[in-house]
Order: sequence, then structure tokens, then C-alpha cells
Amino acid sequence: MFNKNNTFLAAVGFFALLLVPLITSNPYYIHLIETIMIYSILLFGLDIVVGYTGQVSLGHSGLFGIGAYTVGVLFLKFHAPLWLILPLSIVVTAFFGAVLALPALRVTGPYLAMVTLAFGTIIQILINEMTFMTEGPMGIKVSKPMIAGFKLDVQTYYWLVCALLALSMVVVNRILKSQLGRAFEALRGSPIASDCMGVSVYKYKVFAFVISAGFAGLAGSLYAYSEQYISPNTYNFELTVLFLLATIMGGRKTRSGALLGAAIIVLLPKLLDDLETFRIVSSCFAGLILIGALIGIQRKMTTIKSTIVPVLGTISLAAFSFWLTNITDWRLSIFGLMILFVVYYLQDGIIGFLRSLFKQSTQVHAQELSSSIVAMSSLDHSSLSAQSKDILVAKEILMQFGGLKAINQVSLSVERGSIHGLIGPNGSGKSTMMNVLTGIYRPTAGFIDFLGQTVIGRTSSEIALSGIARTFQNVQLFGEMTALQNVMVGLHHTYKSNLLDIALNTKRAQNEESIATQKAFGLLQFVGLGENAYEEARNLPYGRQRLLEIARALALDPQLLLLDEPAAGLTAPDIKELMAIIRKIKDHGITVILIEHHMEVVMSVCDTVSVLDFGQKIAEGKPLEVQANAEVIKAYLGGAVT
Ligand code: ADP
Ligand code: MG
Repeated sequence: MFNKNNTFLAAVGFFALLLVPLITSNPYYIHLIETIMIYSILLFGLDIVVGYTGQVSLGHSGLFGIGAYTVGVLFLKFHAPLWLILPLSIVVTAFFGAVLALPALRVTGPYLAMVTLAFGTIIQILINEMTFMTEGPMGIKVSKPMIAGFKLDVQTYYWLVCALLALSMVVVNRILKSQLGRAFEALRGSPIASDCMGVSVYKYKVFAFVISAGFAGLAGSLYAYSEQYISPNTYNFELTVLFLLATIMGGRKTRSGALLGAAIIVLLPKLLDDLETFRIVSSCFAGLILIGALIGIQRKMTTIKSTIVPVLGTISLAAFSFWLTNITDWRLSIFGLMILFVVYYLQDGIIGFLRSLFKQSTQVHAQELSSSIVAMSSLDHSSLSAQSKDILVAKEILMQFGGLKAINQVSLSVERGSIHGLIGPNGSGKSTMMNVLTGIYRPTAGFIDFLGQTVIGRTSSEIALSGIARTFQNVQLFGEMTALQNVMVGLHHTYKSNLLDIALNTKRAQNEESIATQKAFGLLQFVGLGENAYEEARNLPYGRQRLLEIARALALDPQLLLLDEPAAGLTAPDIKELMAIIRKIKDHGITVILIEHHMEVVMSVCDTVSVLDFGQKIAEGKPLEVQANAEVIKAYLGGAVT
């Protein structure tokens, strides 16, 4: 989060950066810091892909190259001015980002890494081969740009980069704080839940990639002017790996992590150039690790056993540096070792590690909570009751997994405004039925009709947006996000503002955000989680996580709500509260399908109950009739009443 403290620190840091050319006129140092700032802009973008959506990209040096060559070509062929070139390189690179992302993000993990790597390589080859445009291996000379008739020199160009770094930081922060940022985080936290909240995982992965490419384009173009000479072999595999390492080392999901990561990949190789500096660096490094370990042990955050290897390792590295007489041969190996060390031992990156050492509690003021209102009015669907009797009709659904018929010719009619129970022994196909209804599985055969439209063939996020919300038997929250943010992901559909609104923080974007925040508070209070709004979902007790899932599902403003064992793991008083909540949901005109093992819940809240056994429907009717049914007693109630 970008609070007041952070803003103050960022402002101080920014002014310190502005002062650099006034303190030193040595162009070497100015250029070094300029490069760090340019890499940081790229890393802000890369972190959106890696840190937030959790995807790997090895294509970012290629995108960086496209940005640089947009400058090179426009400058060489058209002598285009800066004000045209900068936006164009962002747009061109974002376009290439989309070309890469649309096919690549259909796959994940190692496949994605390979596709993006291939992209980077192809770009490098193309730059090399398309001599008519790029001058091939000869490279292109670029001179510093002009602004309003004034030609920038080393110093003034440095300030331009400073200004664009600050601007990028503001824009990235705005994006990540908006509904877009929440969508990116959500799809990493739980892709299934994202889709079922109407946030299409694929669409937002591509979107994140395109935004990230835009930043890579800006960085690439600034780099071209900074270096004043570009050639294809800069944008190689090594650079792409360095970018990725910088993101991981600095720490994901922080802007300071990006800055630190950029500084490390620019400065560390330089520091290792000279033996004397290497000795100082390795000694400081060992000292820092030792202090970190001591603090960690004292605060009981870590043990001697787990810190002994890194402490001894870094001390030996320092000792080794004093034994060495020549560093040239060892440089790369040492660089690699240090990087490995950070990646292995500090998995949240250096910034993440420092934060955990100086962790502050993130309790937020209660008055914000009390000012919110219960905004349940938008959920009212009672007025729709004049339409057809059944809200959902499923006919002869067959769901086969290999030879197993998890659902076998089941038909289900759910009356509008009712609570429809779905019970049966474990493995009888209840959850599978929900997955079929929400588009996670496509049934082998059968029809499903919701509000007069077929469900089959539509994606989970389309089905969600058409009015079916759900919770999951195995809780699927966005763990790293707060309870409030989880609900706000459910409210994603209420936003109309686009990327430009978000970047410029327009009235529309602000209004939508404040309305959504109020609604989210209202929903949290509705399920009794008002006080937990700012707690991370993963830290909530299990029972509360289930309630949070209900609040998030209600945020979709659904007409039909599917609850998969909401009472599992709840204490007796919590179950009472849950029953009241389910009844209140019904009173708002929302139809509910309820899977539940606790018979007292089923008996007291359901209007109709269907019983599944081995994938088949064996009974259906009013709760009392079903409870008295001999077949049901034999299959289910006889043994498993809880
Ligand atoms: P429950 O009624 O307990 O919710 P489920 O719907 O989860 O039961 O499971 C019904 C049956 O379908 C089980 O035998 C389960 O192993 C099987 N099943 C569910 N999902 C899959 C899947 N993705 N692949 C193979 N088998 C599955
Ligand atoms: Mg189940």
C-alpha cells in the first residue's frame, strides 16, 4: 500500500535523485544512476506480470529492445521529435506485448517461460536481419532529444528520466490500487475464484502483460537516448534473466524492490570489477547477513540451524576475497553465487526480508468501519418474481470423468426465490454439479438453462456476470488480499473506468472506487465481518473465511447463489448465524442452492431438497418428506447424520 509515509520517503528519494548532477559532474556516475532509473521503469512493469499475476516472462529484454528500436528507427528515418517518439514507443511495444501475450498466456509455467524466451530471441534476430530498417548489427546512433527547441545535455536528460520515473511510479501505483490491480492479484490468488467472480483470468493476464510491455517500451526508448547508440546484442538472454532476477531479488509487489533490484543488477557487476571494492562489498554483505541473522534469532523468527549456512557462506566469501589476488576470472561465478544466495534464502526479496524484520502491525482505524452503511439494497431481486417460476432448469446432465459417471442423468429445477438443498454422501456428485453449473466443467451431455439462456459453452466469468455466484467447498480466497479487497474483486463488474481514467485518477475512477468500497463494507457487515475488513484473508479463522466467500459472492449481485458446504468447519453458534444469513439472502430475493451435510441447517432453511447418490438423483421434495424417504435413509441419513 502507498501510505503517507511511503509518499514522503518517495518524495525525499526523488529530490535526492534530482540533486545528483549538481553534486557530481562526472558523466559516468550520472549515467550509472540514469541506467538504474531506466531499468526501474521496466521493472515496475515486469513486477505487474511476475509479482502480481504470478506469470514468468523471459521476453522483457525483447520488449525493451522494441522500445529502443522504435526510437532508433523513428529518429533515423523520420527525425521525429521526442514528444511523438516516447508515446509511440509505448504504444508500439504494448502492441507487440499483446501479440506475444495473446497466444503465450494460453499456457502457463515452463511453457510460458519458453514461449516468451523464444519471442525475445526472435526479436533479437529480427533486429539483426531487418537491416533496411534497423541497420542490423551496425546499430543506430541516436543523439540526445530536443525539447521546445532546446537540446538536452547529459544533465537535463537525466532530469527528464527522473521525471518520467516519478510519473511511472505514480501511474503504476494507481493501476495497482485500482480494480485492475485487484484483478491481477486475484487471478494469482485463485484463478478459479477469479473466473467465478466475473474476472476473466485470461483477459486480465493479457491486460497485465500489455501494460507491462508499455513500461518496457518507455524504458527502452529512454535507454536508447541515454546510451546514444543501440545495437541488437544488448537485448539478449542475459539481460532478460537479469531483469527477472532483479524483480525476484528486490522483492515482488513493491516499487522500492524494483528500484533496489535495478540498482543491484547495474551496480553489482561494476563493484566486482575491482578487487578492493569486492573485498569491501563482500565484507559488508557478510556483516549485514550476520546482523540480520542475530536479530532474527533474538526475535525468534528464525533458528541458529537455519541461519548457519548463509552466515558461514557469506563470511567465507569475504575471507575468500582477501585470499584472492585477481578477480577477473572469478567475477561471473561470484555474481552468480550471490544471486543464487538471495533467491534461495530471501524468497520475498530483500525488501520483503527487511519488512519482515521491521514489521508493523497494520491495524486500521475503526471509525472508517463505522461510517460505512449496509449497502444491501442493490441485492434486491424480489421485484423479478413475476417472471417464470424456475430460475434454473438442468436436464439430464451427464458428467463423465473417464469411465466414472460423477453425475448420471440428473435433472434439477430450481424455483425462483427458493432455497434448494442438495444433499448426499461424499463423492455423490454435489460439488461436480456446481462446477457444471458454473462452467468449470462442461457436461458430457445435457442442457442447462438459466434465466432462459443456455449456460453450456459459456465461460465461468460470463456465467458469473450473467448472475450466478458461488462459494467453494475448499475455500478459494485471494489469500494475500484483505477481506475488503476480496469483496471488491467481486464488485469488479461495477466499474466502468478504463486505464486512462485510472492513470489520470479521474473523478469517475474516484467515484467508482468510493462507491465500491462502501458497498464492500456493507457486505462485510452483512456477514458479520465488519471488524475484519483490513485483515489478510489467509489470516482469518477458517469459519470466517467461509463467510468472506459468501460476502464476495454477494458482491457479484447474483440472482442465484450456490453455496458448497458453507457450514463446514463452523462452530455451533456460527452455524446459527449462518442460517440467519442464508435466510436474509433469500429475503433479498436471491435464489440459493445449498449443499450441506449439517442436517439441521438443511431441514430448517431449505424449501426443497434433492438427494444425490452415486451421481444419481434418488429423491426430491420438501425437507420432511425427504427425511422420511426410505431410500434416502438407507443411502445417506442412516449413517451420516451430523
Ligand atoms: P461431493 O458430492 O462429495 O461433492 P464430488 O462432486 O466432489 O462429490 O465428486 C463426485 C465424484 O466425481 C467423485 O468420485 C470424485 O472423485 C469425482 N471427480 C470429481 N471431480 C473430478 C475430476 N476433475 N476428475 C476426476 N474425477 C472427479
Ligand atoms: Mg463436495
